[in-house]
Amino acid sequence: MKKKDILLCASIYLLTSCGSVPLTGRKQLLLVSDSDVLTSSLTQYNDYIKTAKKSASSSQTAMVKRVGQKIATATEEYLRQAGMANEIKNFAWEFNLVEDKQVNAFCMPGGKIVVYEGLMKLVSSDDELAVVIGHEVAHAVAKHSNERMSQQIAAQYGSQILSAALSEKSTMVQNLAGTVYGIGAQYGVMLPFSRTHELEADYMGLILMAIAGYNPEVAVNFWQKMSAGSGGNIPEFMSTHPSDAHRISEIKRILPEIMKYKTTRR
Ligand SMILES: [Zn+2]
Repeated sequence: MKKKDILLCASIYLLTSCGSVPLTGRKQLLLVSDSDVLTSSLTQYNDYIKTAKKSASSSQTAMVKRVGQKIATATEEYLRQAGMANEIKNFAWEFNLVEDKQVNAFCMPGGKIVVYEGLMKLVSSDDELAVVIGHEVAHAVAKHSNERMSQQIAAQYGSQILSAALSEKSTMVQNLAGTVYGIGAQYGVMLPFSRTHELEADYMGLILMAIAGYNPEVAVNFWQKMSAGSGGNIPEFMSTHPSDAHRISEIKRILPEIMKYKTTRR
């Protein structure tokens, strides 16, 4: 956490909180309450899912729901055992496969996961799908949207929030929701997360898939396949930072540690 952020946290503790990310322990600036994040993101998600066309493939839809639910259950169990169940107490998981040619997937705060059919063309096993869903679930569990929003609030409003009433803060959240979640303006395209968030989602996602019983070792090949097969479109989970090469070498580096979490439960 930057010095500036720590100062900000210390100054406005009455209105806000500073959290730490499950599994990594990284300290983060969280200026927005979970309920404000969930309310504002749910509005956008509901608007999106009403108009999105659900996939006609019952087998692929079942695959998304099966892998998603298994990772969600493992995540809940892990956090409960670690005394961090509160982190996701307001989550209501949903797993959708949507008719869209893009190679993409995203997860809204609160556990609303959307996978596009275009991605499924490159997925050849539950393990590979678990790499993507684990990554997306990790963004949600780590509250990256809240942190990104908080950083924007800090940058835009600075010391003003020190004196802001809670009602004013809600307006800030509403104003920023569109730019942070992205799907309001352009369905299904989330703003890229930062390099820190992407690497953190990779790391946490691999752990979550491992404790759900999937094999994280498929991640290296899968990333290489995605890197070659996304046809120039950059999916959320492959945003330009970090580069594919850096990301793949990072995954190789952390795999021995990740494998310690691997269970045989399937
Ligand atoms: Zn991502």
